Parts: sequence; structure tokens; C-alpha cells
Amino acid sequence: MYQVKASGRNQYKVYNRSMKMKPIFHLESALKKGIEEDEFLLYFQPQISLQTGRVEGAEALLRWDRKDLGIISPGEFISLAEETGLILPIGEKVFREVCRQSVAWQKRGFTSLRLAVNISPLQFQQDHFIELISSILKETGADPRQIELEITESVAMESGGKNRAKMSFLKKMGFQLALDDFGTGYSSLQYLSQFQIDRLKIDRSFISSLEKGEKDKTIVQLIVTMGKELNVKVLAEGVETESQKAFLNKIGCDEMQGYLFSKPINVQDFEQLLLSETG
Ligand code: C2E
Ligand code: MG
Ligand code: MG
Ligand code: MG
Repeated sequence: MYQVKASGRNQYKVYNRSMKMKPIFHLESALKKGIEEDEFLLYFQPQISLQTGRVEGAEALLRWDRKDLGIISPGEFISLAEETGLILPIGEKVFREVCRQSVAWQKRGFTSLRLAVNISPLQFQQDHFIELISSILKETGADPRQIELEITESVAMESGGKNRAKMSFLKKMGFQLALDDFGTGYSSLQYLSQFQIDRLKIDRSFISSLEKGEKDKTIVQLIVTMGKELNVKVLAEGVETESQKAFLNKIGCDEMQGYLFSKPINVQDFEQLLLSETG
């Protein structure tokens, strides 16, 4: 177990709880070193059709493999990576790796598998984002129609129109676009109808409180209904129980992702999962 503690501006230290709070590394310099030494890898979490139960896609989720400390989740380092801009080189590697993996799985015969990749606002806002993405597509030979870019509401709602121009360009290139953590940000329903969004990912917080009361049920149901009206697919994040799944099924939600079906798993395990599905 690790604990990240802020100690002054941009200064973070990671403590190992079992080591009686002795700092074990300075996070920012460790991140830089981790980039140089290629310590980042991707796990994949399946996205399941609620109608058929089949794996339709997978979300690529970043992991940091600190040989000495084990695998670290993004919750521990992603916000610092964003503050320091280190998310840019990391995100570029992530996108390249997703493209490579997509090509590899297509070649293995998993031709309808969609891979989703998280794009941080900072990445999306880079002036040369489209050029960067295009050159990685060229380099890897990946098909953008098999790749979904997950952006947040804040990126989509940005005023000024720059991001929206990029979104529509990415759609023209063939990418699918998903709005991540839907419902937690500053969503504007009016804009939603104008976006070329393929998928809304209902935030896990709504799903986890489904059993607690009627309010979140109503919200989830409204999002699903709205998705149907706007012709946007809806995926529920963080599905952990059979009763959540049953409710989502009942209201006609398209897809789910969550521990009930599978946690994020490494490439080898994901391949096994795909093989067991087709076999
Ligand atoms: P996210 O994009 O909303 O990803 C979903 C998160 O929910 C993942 O956490 C996943 O492991 C977790 N999750 C999925 N199903 C369940 C469930 O049933 N129960 C619970 N309790 N959790 C579940 P993870 O992998 O720790 O990632 C956290 C966040 O870090 C992501 O949230 C995303 O915002 C960010 N992130 C992850 N990978 C990347 C990346 O490559 N680039 C960028 N920019 N951000 C990333
Ligand atoms: Mg995501
Ligand atoms: Mg999410
Ligand atoms: Mg999230």
C-alpha cells in the first residue's frame, strides 16, 4: 500500500505504509525516470454487450510497473502527471501502444474488437494533437475505426470551438468518441445533441448507488433514454453486482464494464479471455 503526500508546490513523496512512513521516492523524478525506462504498461478491461453478453471492446488502462514496488494504479500518479505535463509523453506512448495492440489483435482474428483509450485534456489541447495522432496511425498501421477516444465533458464543452473542431476532425478520420465519467462534469444537454459522440459512459458513482435509492435509478434511466433519442450508445461503468446488471438490462443500456465481469487484466490474460469466448 502506498500513500502519496504533497509536500510543498509540485513536491510529492510516496510513502510505503509498512515502512512507517519513510519516503521511498520522489514522485515527479520517479515519473520522469519511469518514462525514460519504459516502466508503463497497459491493462485492458472488457466492455460487454448487455444484450449478448459478448466482449465488444476493451478500455486500455495505464499501469506503472515499479519493479521494486509492484504495479501502481493511475490514481496514485495521474494528477501529478497532468500538473507537470508528463502526461504528454506518457499519453503518446499509451496511444502508440493501443494502436500496436489493436493491429496485433486484428491480425489474431479479433476483427471486431474496439479498443478505448483515455485522452487527458492536456493531450487533447495540444496544437499538434491531430498531427501526432495521424503520424502514430501511419507508423503503426492501426485502423481508427477500431479505436475509441475517451474524452471528458470538460474537453467537449470547452468554449471557443477549438476542441469541437478537433472532435469533428477525429470523427472524419474514423475514430469513435466516448464521453467518459458522464454525469459528473458540467454537461450541457444542448451541446450533446450537436456532438458527434458515439458513446456515453455513465460514471461509476451512479451505478454504485443504484441499489441505494430511486434517484440514481432515475438518472441512469434518463441517460439511457436520452442515448436512444440521440442515437448515442450508453455504457455503464463500474458494474459490480448482478442486480445492477439486471437493472441496466431492463432499461436497455447497451454495454457494461466493471468488476462483475472482469477487473482490468494484462494483455496475456485478456487474450485468454478472447480465446475462451470464441473457442
Ligand atoms: P476511467 O477512465 O473512468 O477508468 C475507469 C476506472 O474505474 C479504472 O480505474 C477501472 O479500473 C475502474 N473500475 C472499472 N470497473 C470497476 C468496478 O467495477 N469497481 C471499481 N471500484 N472500479 C472499477 P484505473 O485503472 O485505476 O484508472 C483510473 C483513472 O485514471 C481512469 O478513469 C482515467 O481517468 C485515468 N487513466 C487510466 N489510464 C489512463 C491513460 O492511459 N491516460 C489518461 N490520460 N488517463 C488514464
Ligand atoms: Mg476511461
Ligand atoms: Mg470513466
Ligand atoms: Mg473515472
